[in-house]
Amino acid sequence: MATKYWLQQTLGGGYPADPGDVVQTKLRLQAQGYYREPDYGITEYPDTPMFDGIKRFQSDNGLQVDGLMRPGGPTETGLAARSPRYTCSECGAKHGGVYSPTVCADCWLKS
Ligand SMILES: [Zn+2]
Repeated sequence: MATKYWLQQTLGGGYPADPGDVVQTKLRLQAQGYYREPDYGITEYPDTPMFDGIKRFQSDNGLQVDGLMRPGGPTETGLAARSPRYTCSECGAKHGGVYSPTVCADCWLKS
């Protein structure tokens, strides 16, 4: 069972990132449509798409746009509370629409 909150420590530029935090955050952002997996895959290192995704999520949700996430802070809480908005027309899975508003990432990559 997935835990609702995942951050062990503050995640942001200038902070030493916990590898597990980074992976979890990318997966959560991806599920919400705020992160598109780069060619090099989902790594435990913070990357620009991750920080861009955090900022876009903050901007969309009226939060302070600082690209920073604190354990239990508004960005982590918001990301945990939101569910994916889109339903895949192929397999019916809920997804974040990062690849397409109609099909999930799995079906998109298969087509
Ligand atoms: Zn699908």
